[in-house]
Amino acid sequence: MTQAPGDGREEEETQMPEMNVERAGTVVILATGGTIAGVGEAGRTIGYRPGALTVEDLLGAVPGLQEVAPVQALQFCNLNSDDITGEIWLELTRTINRLAENPHVAGFVVTHGTDTLEETAYFLNLTLKTAKPVVLTGSMRPSTSFSPDGPMNLYQAVCVAASPQAVGKGVLAVFSDHIYAARSVTKTSTYHVMAISAGEMGSIGIVRDREVYLYETPAKRHTLDTPFDVSTLERLPRVSVIYFAVDADPALLRWAAEHADGLVIAGAGAGEYSQAFKEVISTLTIPVVASSRIDDGVITQDSVLCANTIAADNLPAQKAAILLRLALTLTTDPAAIRAMFSLY
Ligand code: ASP
Repeated sequence: MTQAPGDGREEEETQMPEMNVERAGTVVILATGGTIAGVGEAGRTIGYRPGALTVEDLLGAVPGLQEVAPVQALQFCNLNSDDITGEIWLELTRTINRLAENPHVAGFVVTHGTDTLEETAYFLNLTLKTAKPVVLTGSMRPSTSFSPDGPMNLYQAVCVAASPQAVGKGVLAVFSDHIYAARSVTKTSTYHVMAISAGEMGSIGIVRDREVYLYETPAKRHTLDTPFDVSTLERLPRVSVIYFAVDADPALLRWAAEHADGLVIAGAGAGEYSQAFKEVISTLTIPVVASSRIDDGVITQDSVLCANTIAADNLPAQKAAILLRLALTLTTDPAAIRAMFSLY
């Protein structure tokens, strides 16, 4: 799946080129677009075009990268990450799984827009079938700004992807010196250079120059330890997220339920919503996950307002939607889906 650099939204798709990796310890860099590949007016941090630079341009901005590990690059697509789709995720998983079979490949870096970086990271975390490190990174400042953060983030991501310490840790994200687990990484600022973090879960390690310091191991199951096999899946089930706020229209719930295989409610507080929402949700027959619009904290099964719903644990709505979509490839049984929400 490649797309010509341009406005980043072209629909032209081609077959993924084969990649011969012959040097031991190679880190494969798959570029997908985002601000890290953004180009704009010199010095400015807004009003730029994401997904404009090629992966070769990105590598050209990081002299010395080949001293960390041999790197090979693949332009996977070149998009603003808000245009990433489920089909792209499926193809990305399959591409990484295929390349991971090559014994010369040590790990992967996926460059990505920060808006949905956490979603791609969690999807890969649940569907990849490799213990090799897979590290997502991006940037908040375009390449043409005064002090772009992309080159350093890319350098650090390659250091982590090449590190034996990162093997078997699931998908990771590297941003502004920190290493995050895919399940907890999230975007927390619309503009700040440290916009990627993990809320109360925190980072699991740091990078200083070339050195990787990993301090925690993600406890939830991932990669080789999940039942999600997307090797032949053409399309993911449809799941819509409905955001609750005062006077939110319950008609949206009915409409969404008719057009989706499952729903996620981003409720207030500990996953709560109005009586009007409750009346509709309690009648729905498709799987409904109760999450919260608040970043930190957990929704427990014994606290959900409607007994037919599934507690999201501490997953934010956008990640709960990913787990629900994958769960629905295997089952529609709420009890089985509940079990998945406590495991993954
Ligand atoms: N809109 C951009 C994207 O997600 C933002 C970024 O990369 O920081 O592609």
